[in-house]
Amino acid sequence: MSIVSKDIQKAITLLTNEELVAIPTETVYGLAGNIYSEKAVTRIFSTKKRPFFNPLIVHISGGEVLKTIVSHIPEKAKLLADAFWPGSMTLVLKKNDIIPDIITAGKDTVAVRVPNHPVTLKLLKQLPFPLAAPSANPFGCISPTKPIHVERYFKNDIQQVLEGGSCTNGIESTIIGFENNQPIIYRLGALAIEDIEAVVGKVSIKNKKEHSPNAPGMLARHYAPATKTFLVEDIASMVKSQLGKKIGLLVFKDSLHDPSLTEIILSKKGSMHEAASKLYDSLHELDCKKLDVIIAERLPDIGLGKSINDRLQRATFSI
Ligand code: AMP
Ligand code: MG
Repeated sequence: MSIVSKDIQKAITLLTNEELVAIPTETVYGLAGNIYSEKAVTRIFSTKKRPFFNPLIVHISGGEVLKTIVSHIPEKAKLLADAFWPGSMTLVLKKNDIIPDIITAGKDTVAVRVPNHPVTLKLLKQLPFPLAAPSANPFGCISPTKPIHVERYFKNDIQQVLEGGSCTNGIESTIIGFENNQPIIYRLGALAIEDIEAVVGKVSIKNKKEHSPNAPGMLARHYAPATKTFLVEDIASMVKSQLGKKIGLLVFKDSLHDPSLTEIILSKKGSMHEAASKLYDSLHELDCKKLDVIIAERLPDIGLGKSINDRLQRATFSI
């Protein structure tokens, strides 16, 4: 029997009983549990096989909840929250004592966001606690953007995937930390840097290794298909070099017009937003086809293209 269901009441009961529920967000599906339940949070780590040194993002129902979990809100954090919440932006702020250490991996900061999905917002508004919710995939695997992806991964581990359709943004949130009250991008994501800079001016991007050398989202290889995958600028010559193999192609907007290849076009009209929303689903699809190799095309390095290239880089062998 399928574990995918629209029953919000069931999700409330499970979460209140310290169980896990996979929840829809506009970025990716999350594996959610009560942040104040040690049992639930421990199960998030064990179900995902996620190392404990990687902190979790806390999901809240609205900006007004923020002051109950953090001790200081810089002026630019307020501006960003007002501009982009609910939305695909996570803020890392000094935490309150109320936030358990297991959520933050012992750090004195907590990552928090208001997800922009009607089902999950409704759920969060009815719960008396926030939800910790990392992506609902085993450590290192491709993130889930459809209920079926989560069901394939965790049908024997959890009781419910709360149905919320396909994720409209399709890649993880942009993470912003603060140093001397100035915003710094810690992880590229579904909110483009250009949009952030329109609100708070120029922001710096911190070298990922410097910021968090061990955090899985920051590992050189993460979000990875089981099939060997390459990221290249020039797909045509890469295809030639792999002759005789069963090849899957992931291209941005232009087809290679070669019927012997299994090809997915991310956005025929060249929309970065559409490409991001289809990225993980396309990788899931190609990974299921028993191919010898997947070749992904690097996108233009502007706007969301930067974030998509970041994810593809971690999913693949770059040459
Ligand atoms: P995800 O795996 O998409 O749930 O995102 C979690 C990521 O958020 C981690 O890998 C960290 O990079 C980042 N993160 C969470 N909490 C913190 C924190 N307190 N300080 C810095 N980064 C954090
Ligand atoms: Mg993840």
